[in-house]
Amino acid sequence: MILTVTLNPSIDVSYPLDSLTIDGVNRISEVSKTPGGKGLNVSRVLQQLGGDLVTTGFIGGQFGDFIRHELDQINLKHDYQNIDGQTRTCIAILHDGGKQTEILESGPEISAQDSQAFKNKFADLAEQASTITMSGSLPKGLAKDYYNDLIKIGQDAGARVLLDTSGQTLTTAVNHPVKPYLIKPNEEEVKAITGSELDLADPESIKSALTDPSLDEIDWLVVSLGKDGAVAKVDDHFYQVTIPTVQAVNPVGSGDSTIAGFAKALDDGKPADEVLKTGMTCGVLNAMSSKTGDIDPDQFDEIYSQVEVEDL
Ligand code: ATP
Repeated sequence: MILTVTLNPSIDVSYPLDSLTIDGVNRISEVSKTPGGKGLNVSRVLQQLGGDLVTTGFIGGQFGDFIRHELDQINLKHDYQNIDGQTRTCIAILHDGGKQTEILESGPEISAQDSQAFKNKFADLAEQASTITMSGSLPKGLAKDYYNDLIKIGQDAGARVLLDTSGQTLTTAVNHPVKPYLIKPNEEEVKAITGSELDLADPESIKSALTDPSLDEIDWLVVSLGKDGAVAKVDDHFYQVTIPTVQAVNPVGSGDSTIAGFAKALDDGKPADEVLKTGMTCGVLNAMSSKTGDIDPDQFDEIYSQVEVEDL
């Protein structure tokens, strides 16, 4: 099975408003509250792609119970570590013709005891997993290299571990002796890790940045570029991926959907070009949907046939 990890999940609340009044009252009639966090976006898309999956992480309080209940409603298997704190809420106010104002809680602090308890649970789950995805930020209280501890546990259990995090957490994870199997840095993160600029118009600059010794032992490096597709290094091969132009409705979560596609295709033993095409197709389909972490499987083949993977 595929195991997805969201260490800091949330309840995502969406408030659509014609216009946002600051320092006044805003009344809202249509509210949506859904389990959120990058790993839960990955999980929903994996479920839409079909196949066996379990999602895990830390949850607590009544908001944690709400997440469990909502996942039960869609038959998405979960096995969370309970914590004393309360799972966070993240609010997105959609207003004034396309503006999005977000209010994001940082989430509960994880105790040393819960941190260790989760490692034990994760070790048990990893034994049943062939592929593991880990997404998002680290909650407060965990060691900076907590992801590397999980990667080691996952790898020792025989699973490939895809890590989709950002900023300093990504840099720490990459500079650690225990490496993930796949990462998806953006252009700035490649620069922060390697010190090299990515000039996307110049294949030699892409190759030189992605062959930096700091990235050497990571099998899959994918730099996704929104509507411009992606460039990737897989072992010693470089690829340029182009995607069709579509009517993008809501690209939020396209990166998570891409990770879901990669995880599914890798788990199915597909060759590199098909893995890249599957990931990109999921990213494009998510951008075409109004929901975050959502694809229409009926449109999969049509988009997949228009994604092109070329040697760089
Ligand atoms: P997020 O953090 O919102 O999940 P990201 O920055 O990690 O996104 P992106 O590069 O924006 O990831 O998107 C991942 C993939 O999704 C792209 O490589 C592309 O295939 C697809 N995608 C993203 N935005 C668009 C768009 N506007 N139109 C079509 N496809 C898109």
